[in-house]
Amino acid sequence: MRQLFVPYVLKDCETKAHLLVTLQPQLQTGQCCCNRNRHRDCRTLFHVALAQPRAESTKIEWHPYRAAFGRASYLALMVCWRAGKCGLNYTVNAQSERLEQLNRRIDEAEADLVELTQSLIRLPTVNPPGDGYADMCDFLDARLSKNSFSIERVRATDALGDSDQYPRWNIIARHDGRGKGECVHFNSHTDVVDVGDGWTVDPFAGVVRDGKIFGRGACDMKGGLAASIVAAECFIQTYPDYNGAVEISGTCDEESGGFGGVAYLAEKGWFNPARVQHVIIPEPLNKDRICLGHRGVLWSEIETYGHIAHGSMPFLGDCAVRHMGAVIDEFEKDLFPALAQKRTAMPVVPDGARQSTMNINSIHGGLAEPSADYTGLPSALVPDRCRMVVDRRFLMEETLEEVRAELVQLLQKIGDQRENFRYEIRELFSVLPTMAEHDAPVVKAVAGAIRNEMGCEPAYVVSPGTYDQKHIDRIGKLKNCIAYGPGILDLAHQPDEYIGIQDMLDSAKVMAQSLVTLLSAK
Ligand SMILES: [Zn+2]
Repeated sequence: MRQLFVPYVLKDCETKAHLLVTLQPQLQTGQCCCNRNRHRDCRTLFHVALAQPRAESTKIEWHPYRAAFGRASYLALMVCWRAGKCGLNYTVNAQSERLEQLNRRIDEAEADLVELTQSLIRLPTVNPPGDGYADMCDFLDARLSKNSFSIERVRATDALGDSDQYPRWNIIARHDGRGKGECVHFNSHTDVVDVGDGWTVDPFAGVVRDGKIFGRGACDMKGGLAASIVAAECFIQTYPDYNGAVEISGTCDEESGGFGGVAYLAEKGWFNPARVQHVIIPEPLNKDRICLGHRGVLWSEIETYGHIAHGSMPFLGDCAVRHMGAVIDEFEKDLFPALAQKRTAMPVVPDGARQSTMNINSIHGGLAEPSADYTGLPSALVPDRCRMVVDRRFLMEETLEEVRAELVQLLQKIGDQRENFRYEIRELFSVLPTMAEHDAPVVKAVAGAIRNEMGCEPAYVVSPGTYDQKHIDRIGKLKNCIAYGPGILDLAHQPDEYIGIQDMLDSAKVMAQSLVTLLSAK
């Protein structure tokens, strides 16, 4: 048994610390004298690659493969650090030489990864209306066919939103290994939401600053798309003799429901357990988290009716907005408190979403909003219609039928008590909750790669909102699907959205190592 004192400086915060690393025989396990690190902050993680008999004291760089720790034959010992004292046992996975080569290749691809992400950001695929999908497919086609992927393009001709002005183009790239085997599919949406206000950089320039790439879609999810491309390419270069297939798709319209994208492809058989066995969606869920699925959705439009009259004599009319006020009143008194009581066993993040929720999305009553250049006053009218859209998010523990009935019963109750209460309720959109099993093959593979690459236990989460997994599950009947990708979820759709370059590299390594596991590459 050997013990090493390893002083090092944590780059970001200048903290000095000593690690006591106890090396067990054969270097199979290591122990460190640090606090148990909960890995909330990945910057407190680092890897130590130790050669067997080495100096008693070694300066540790942030990243092992850049550090001068020598060659692939050295075992990578993963140690977590935080000031303090504790004894925490780690099992060390001896990395094969090829795995080290794979990681090194990804590190060496950093400049390419940055450039690729910038190029993707510079294609403004804003949705709605759905701009630039064909240009995006051209770009991905050129990139991936150069790296011996075969390319198929699919236009969702009869899907929602498709028109000659805004065609819904999708691309599927496939690389087949030497022999037969399973297929791992990376699916990224290529559309981004509108820019909005508050930007301090050009949202479509791909500005690089402080180790981050800024731009609309940088984190949601062009950074994830770029990371998966680099991961797949490096995997194929390192394991050219692998069995099975790797697919990468760039699909449109996720931000508006995915009907011209993944839903369409799933209907046409592209996501089908017979041809695809594992799906990873590189949405920005943070690089040490595995997103198993999402809550369910029910969007409804409620309309109340009144009677139009002169505004000076409202008693001659019947105000639809007041009827809607009674609906909101009932929401406040009964529905919102009841929803807060419905907690779920799904590991939804953030914690506030670990229950049923409902948002009042919009409300319109009375005269239409005047146009911006109208300078006159409104006319005196009692509104005869009021419309409200509500966005209800529900849990695995609830059924869609129950959720529907809850609103209908609430409206009926008001109707029983309130004079002249007339209403209609229309369903706009619904999605069932979905969640992959903890022991699904893709979950286990990605979890193992996170442990290996980041030295921490992955956090298993469920997304508060939906993404394309719903179509892969419901239409494609593919349960073995997760979201895993770089980027901070909270930055999605915000001004000055960015993606961290190191995060992309780390998650690319996790994705590449997952390919090694899932395709049993040796
Ligand atoms: Zn997204």
